[in-house]
Formats: sequence, structure tokens, C-alpha cells
Amino acid sequence: MGQRLSLSLRFRFFAVLGGLLIVAMIALAVISKWLIFPALQAEEHTAVQRELDRAERSLMLNQESLLAQARDWANWDDSYQFLEGSNPRYTEVNFSQQMFEDMNYHLMAFFTLAGDVHFLAGLDPVTGRYQTCTAAVNRCGWMAPWVETMQSAIANQVDPITLYIEQWPAIVAASQILRTDESGPPNGWLFKVRAMDDAWLERMADYTGLPISLNVTPYNAAKATELTFSGDQARASQQFPALGTNEAVSLEIELNRVQYLASLATFRYILLWTAGLMLLVIGMVLLLLERMVLKPLRQLTAFTQSAGQLNDSNGLTQRRDEIGILSRAFSEQLSCQQQLNAELLRMSTHDSLTELPNRRLFDQRLTLAVSQASADSEPLAVMMLDIDHFKLYNDYYGHQKGDECLQQVATALHGIANQHDFLIARTGGEEFSALLPGITPKEATEFANALIEAVDQLMLPHTTSPVSRYVTISLGIGMLEDSETSLPSAVMGTADQALYLAKASGRHCMALYKPPLASHPISKQNTPS
Ligand code: GH3
Ligand code: MG
Ligand code: MG
Repeated sequence: MGQRLSLSLRFRFFAVLGGLLIVAMIALAVISKWLIFPALQAEEHTAVQRELDRAERSLMLNQESLLAQARDWANWDDSYQFLEGSNPRYTEVNFSQQMFEDMNYHLMAFFTLAGDVHFLAGLDPVTGRYQTCTAAVNRCGWMAPWVETMQSAIANQVDPITLYIEQWPAIVAASQILRTDESGPPNGWLFKVRAMDDAWLERMADYTGLPISLNVTPYNAAKATELTFSGDQARASQQFPALGTNEAVSLEIELNRVQYLASLATFRYILLWTAGLMLLVIGMVLLLLERMVLKPLRQLTAFTQSAGQLNDSNGLTQRRDEIGILSRAFSEQLSCQQQLNAELLRMSTHDSLTELPNRRLFDQRLTLAVSQASADSEPLAVMMLDIDHFKLYNDYYGHQKGDECLQQVATALHGIANQHDFLIARTGGEEFSALLPGITPKEATEFANALIEAVDQLMLPHTTSPVSRYVTISLGIGMLEDSETSLPSAVMGTADQALYLAKASGRHCMALYKPPLASHPISKQNTPS
């Protein structure tokens, strides 16, 4: 029971703490999956988007600066006059390969208001050749697709700044030609083209510090901005639609995910440590519980189960903790209970007045002795003793004196029984019974006489006794072998009949039961004078 209790407690501790551990682990996993990892990803997403925005702003700035340069050239009296045809040295003075290279221009196109080509100058980014023409033919043939796109833009209301893609992607800025004071009427158009070539990309990369690349892709408005994350690389792209085509320039940046991966690794490390720490704490708690509570409890259980023989080999009662207090209390309780039990046992088997064994104990011993003697075919003698004329004693001396007399007679009888090692009990008011296993009738008569003699020697005065001046007893002896049956009551019946005979024979004597003849007195004690 105790073993089961401690096992059950251990099981409960394991169940509760194990459950707690599982719940904590699940909570950690849920928090990681639904809160922390998404937060880390969102943070990385924002960081990549921020970088992409930076690259985009650089492109915008580049576009705006080209537009500002186009307006500067377009709102200029010299340009105005050039379109009117009154500034013949305009191109000679202002245009050169060096200027195109310095300004990173690849094409400058002047158109009349109607959209006719007035003048073209360009630096072919493929061949690197610089040409000036008044029509996009021959050596300026490479400018033809650009000129056509610009002319359709003029026809459809020019967008002052945009991207074109022909052979290569480029930023294009357009402005109407006005006088320097921006007065009109406008007399033509100026387009400036800056190729988004490798040199442009290098400049952008230097300016932003970002690894920018360009692609020409079919335009997809739904995927204008795209962020993809794989392994240790994050890729972000932004599409810019080109004028007059369904293609787009895709500005791309590729970033490594060092920061995100480092945060992830740190967090995983923390997670692992937290889980490990929890495991360790719960393990320690279980270990301490086992050592400080469960083991002492098991010892205490074994200690309490030692069936009255308290075996304190583990020194439980020496402990200074609660287990020690409990053990000492239990130990004291047990010895107190053992005393009480002994007391109760004594009370239930002994007579309170004379301290002799009582009828209950006598009957138990008689049953045992009869069956033992029957089994072993051994002789067994029983005796019944009765104080003579005790009623008269009580009547004369009083009940109190009667009790004292009973005690003295009992002590005397017990002395003889003790001497010869047989049992004598108070089995009635002034009646006693004796049990003498293995005793022959001859020996029994000797003991009987010794008992009568012992009472006589007390010389307790009994003035009103018709038999003697002193208290006397009569005694009947029965033998198992003389009994009709080996029932204890039958055996005692023989002694009772013998006692009756002794009484009838004048008392202060003993009689031995003699079957089948009527029992008769054997001897008569001399009444002390
Ligand atoms: P007999 O010789 O035939 O045995 O005569 P008796 O007077 O002894 O027998 P009887 O059965 O007539 O009386 C027994 C008396 O014993 C009656 C009762 O008052 C007394 N007696 C029984 N038990 C106690 C006891 O515990 N204390 C005292 N004081 N007297 C007791
Ligand atoms: Mg009697
Ligand atoms: Mg009597």
C-alpha cells in the first residue's frame, strides 16, 4: 500500500511536471512559429523593401536630373533660335562627343512642333561612335526606332520623363523649346536619352551602395514589386513600364540575409537554451522530490509497516525535518498503542479483582489443552475449586471483606499453580478452575491437596462457617480420559460433579471423578484448629 502510494506520488509528480514541460515546449513552439519567426521575417521584409525603395529613389533622382538638364537646354534662347534656323553655329559650339560622355547622354533629338526631326546627335552605346545628323538614316540609322517612339510621344502628348526600350533601356526626358525667360510660343521639342547601360549601373551602385542590376521583362502590373527569399539570399525587384511597349525595366537588388540568419540563429540558440533550462529545472525538481520526499516517504512507509517491530535502520527518527517529526510521532503513537493493546489484552483475559486469568482465557486454554491431549493421547486433569460457605462469610464480614478474602485466596492458589506451572483461573464469583495437562490422577490429587493446604495456611477467620473456623475450599478433579466426550464442557462437567461430591461430603475436601461409578471423596483435609 505504502509502496503503491509512493509510486503513485512519483507518477503524479512525473505526470504533472512532465505535462508542464510539454505545455511549456508547445507554448515555445507556438510563440516561435506564430509570433517570433513571422516578426523576424516581417522585419527582414521591411529591410529589403527599404533597400529597394532606396534604389528606386536613386533612379527617380537620376530621371529628374536628366529632365532638369533637358529643360535647361530647351528653355534657352540659343536653342530657340536654333529651331528658328537663326543660330547656325549652335551645334558646332554646343555639341561634342566629350559633352555627351561627360553628361552621360546617348542621344539628343530636336523636333519641330509638328514632330519633324530638326537635329539629331548621339553616342551609340553599342559601338561608342558619335554622330550628328538631320535625319535618322545612314550612320544615324540606329537612332530611327528612338526617333519614331519620340514622334509618337509628341503626337500623344509628351510625357516629360519616362523610360524607353529600343535596342537598350534608357531614361528619356523631353521638354518644349522656349526662350530663356520661358516665354513662348514653343517652337519645338528637345529629347535627351541616357542609356541604362553598365556604366550607368556602376554609377548607381556607387551612389547607393547597392548591388543593382537591370533586366528587360514583360510588364506585369500584379508583380511590379517582387521580394523573394531563398537560402542566404534575398532578391527584390521593381518593374518600371517603358513607353510605347508592353515591356518593363526591372530594377533588381540582391542582398544577403546575414542579419536575418544571425537573428534566427540567436533566437534558435535562446530557444534551445530555454528548453534545455526548463528540462534541467524540471529534472532537478523531480530529483529533489525523489530524494527529499519520495524516498523518505517510502522509508517511512516501510518503517510503519514493520508490524510493531519498528526498524529504524534508516535513522528516520533522528532526522530534523518533517519526516523525522512524523517518524517520532508515529513511533511514540505505536508504543503507546502497543501498551494500550497489552493492557486491553490483559483486561480481556484477566480478572480485575484477583489478577488471575479469567474464564475467557481459561476456556481458550482448555479447548487447546483438550485437543492437544486428545491428539497426543496424553492425560489431562481439570479442577474446580469453590470457597466453602462464602455467602455466610459475606453476610458476616461484609462484601468488602469478602473481596479481600477472594484476593488472598487467589494469591495463595496462584502461588501453588506458579510453583507447579499450571493454569488457575477465577471462573466464577468464588469459584476457580485449574488446568493440568499431562498430569495423572495421582499427581492431580497431590496438587489438589496442596491447593487446599495453601488456603488453609492463610488462616482467614470464618466465624460463621459450619466446616471450620477459617476459610476453606472444596475441590473436584475431572480427567479427560474419564469424560464421556472430549468436549471441553464435558471434561469440566466431570470436575463439576467431583466438586459437587466434595461439597456433599462435608466440604473442605477434594473429590476425584470416577466413572462409571458415582464419584466419591478420596481424602479430607484436617480443619486447622
Ligand atoms: P457453598 O459452600 O455451598 O459453596 O456455599 P456458598 O455460600 O459458598 O455458596 P453460594 O453459591 O450460596 O454463595 C456464593 C456467594 O459468593 C454468594 C455471593 O455473595 C458471593 N460472591 C460471589 N462473588 C463475589 C465477589 O466477587 N465478592 C464477594 N464479596 N462475594 C462474592
Ligand atoms: Mg459457588
Ligand atoms: Mg462456595
